[in-house]
Amino acid sequence: MATMISIEGLTKTYHLGELDVPVLKEIDLSIQEGEYVAIMGTSGSGKSTLMNIIGCLDRPTSGLYTLDGRDLTTMDDDELADIRNQYIGFVFQQFNLLPRLTALENVMLPMIYAEVPRSERIKFAIAALEKIGLGDRLTNRPSQLSGGQQQRVAIARALVNHPALVLADEPTGALDSKTSHEIMELLTELNQQGTTIALVTHDATVAAQTKRVIHMQDGVIVETEKHS
Ligand code: ADP
Ligand code: MG
Repeated sequence: MATMISIEGLTKTYHLGELDVPVLKEIDLSIQEGEYVAIMGTSGSGKSTLMNIIGCLDRPTSGLYTLDGRDLTTMDDDELADIRNQYIGFVFQQFNLLPRLTALENVMLPMIYAEVPRSERIKFAIAALEKIGLGDRLTNRPSQLSGGQQQRVAIARALVNHPALVLADEPTGALDSKTSHEIMELLTELNQQGTTIALVTHDATVAAQTKRVIHMQDGVIVETEKHS
């Protein structure tokens, strides 16, 4: 398998007044194409910071990060935004849908940034929502949908540009166990179709459905376990 993500000696330090707060400390991590990885660890251990850097939403303080062989640390903000739009779909614990937009409009958003023509955007967004079982909810706003339905819309939005990499930061953290299971089935199916997935979770049942679990503590990776 080809290496998709290669991270070496990655650090992130926040500067709060006089104080330097190291949040990621010399992280080494590689993720292969097609992998399905969970990141676990206590609150504050740096999981979201790492995910945000991997997802090009944030930058490291130092260290190396290459994605498909491309060095991201030397890219300017526009180049980084292009990588994000081309490669990466992001799913968040609180869904992060825009409340004033319908399900369809939320799913169409990433295609605007990717400059897909409008007629195509509508067609692809409908297809993405049908695929996740929400073809009858196109014109509903987030407040008219259950938590599980909102997360499905968020997943459809993350997938609509066919990203090679999907990052999910506690995607089931706000859902009950049955809905959480349904969302994990969706992600597992996506991985089986070839998408590389890294997710953060506190839930051992969720982590057990992935193929590798990375444990973080206080800004370092302390252990990695592989499932067959
Ligand atoms: P986790 O997702 O594992 O709970 P985070 O990556 O969100 O952890 O946070 C790791 C540490 O970094 C925490 O101590 C948090 O308070 C700190 N932190 C996160 N974001 C910022 C920021 N923008 N400024 C300062 N400190 C931050
Ligand atoms: Mg977090």
